[in-house]
Parts: sequence; structure tokens; C-alpha cells
Amino acid sequence: MVKDYAVIGLGRFGGSICRELSKEGKQVLAIDNDENRVNEYKKIAYHAVIADTTDEDTLKDIGIQNFEHVIVAIGENIQASILTAVILVDLGIKKITVKAKNDYHEKILDKIGVHHVVHPERDMGRKIAHSIISHNILDYLELSDEHSIVEVKAGKRMIGKSLIDLDVRAKYGCNIVAIKQGRTINVSPSAEDALQEDDVLIVIGADEDISRFERNLV
Ligand code: ADP
Repeated sequence: MVKDYAVIGLGRFGGSICRELSKEGKQVLAIDNDENRVNEYKKIAYHAVIADTTDEDTLKDIGIQNFEHVIVAIGENIQASILTAVILVDLGIKKITVKAKNDYHEKILDKIGVHHVVHPERDMGRKIAHSIISHNILDYLELSDEHSIVEVKAGKRMIGKSLIDLDVRAKYGCNIVAIKQGRTINVSPSAEDALQEDDVLIVIGADEDISRFERNLV
């Protein structure tokens, strides 16, 4: 029987993944080699075990092959993270997500065939940098080195104007793909409707074009 999720490493990052998945009603196996951490997650996760995941036999005994998705959130100990990841790849786990601590760690994880490498500290740093540069940028998602999606508050110069009036695509080369109004999100915004105060635009485009759009209109 294929089980849901296993989270290895119950520090801040792994712990928060474990809590959220459990809150969403998913069955999570929480694993750590620290007894105190495991005890803490016994109340939260479906099941929690003490194990050193750098040992292949231990992982097999846990039945790690039966899990559909394994998340490796070992933070400081890069060697343990890499070793655990190698074993999971060798065991043929369908989905493996590993947290990388730095670019060097990420490169190795890519090379050994980890499906999904995440870099939460770097990504959060970038997001915060963008929101510091521009107070109007509420959120930022990097799509590639040169392209992003941003959430930006409609500026004074835009209020009362329609998307046709603003002609963002022709003038700035980026697209307004959705408009948020409070809790509602309109994913196919009308080209004729006037923008209102407090509208939040979701804009996709090249970083340069988004910056130009933001400098001129927001
Ligand atoms: P964060 O930066 O997300 O807080 P930490 O480095 O504090 O990450 O936490 C990583 C967790 O991984 C710790 O609870 C640690 O005990 C656990 N861990 C480290 N090495 C192993 C290992 N070989 N097997 C299982 N768990 C491990």
C-alpha cells in the first residue's frame, strides 16, 4: 500500500512542513535521529520514529519505499542530507524533495537525481529584497533568472483606467494575468473595466519589463 508523506529532519523547516501536511489531513511519517524532536512530533504527525536516515537498512526497515513523497529537511548536516538523498534515489522513491542549504549543496542534489530541490532561505531572501526595493510589490515568484510573477498594488495613476487604456502589454511587454479584489481573484480580467483602489495586479513578464511597468505606473 502506498502511504502519503515522510518528512526526514524535524527542524524549523521540516517541522513546519510536517505540521501543515498534518493540518491538511495528510498522513505524515515524521523521522529524526533526535529523540526529543520525535517525541514533540508524536502528537502532530500520524506516526513519528527515531532513525538515522543515512543508513540504508534503517530506511528499508521503516518501509520508506512505501511512501509516495519523501521530504528531506536535514539542515546543517549537508553530508547526512546528501547521503539520505542518494539512498532515496537508489530505492526508487517516486517523489523526493530536498532542502538545499547553499548552491553547492543544490548542485550535488541535482547531479544525484533528486526530483525537486528547494532553497527556502535564498528564495525568501529574494522575495524580501524585492518587497524592500518596492513597497508596492506584495509578493514575488521567480520563474527563471529573467522572468517573474509579481503581485503589485494598483498605483494612483492606474485607478479609473482600464487595461485597454493602460496598454501594458504593448508599452511594457508584460501581462496582467489576474486582478485580486479583497479575497476574490479574477483570473480573466476584463480589458474594459476600470481599475479600483486596492486592486492588486498579478503581473507576469521579464524582470526588466516588470520594473519599467512598476516605475512608470505604480
Ligand atoms: P532547520 O534549519 O530547518 O531548523 P535543522 O538543521 O535545525 O534544520 O534540523 C535538521 C533536523 O534534521 C534536526 O532535527 C536533526 O536532528 C535532523 N537530522 C540531522 N541528521 C540526521 C540524520 N542523519 N537522520 C535523521 N535526522 C537527522
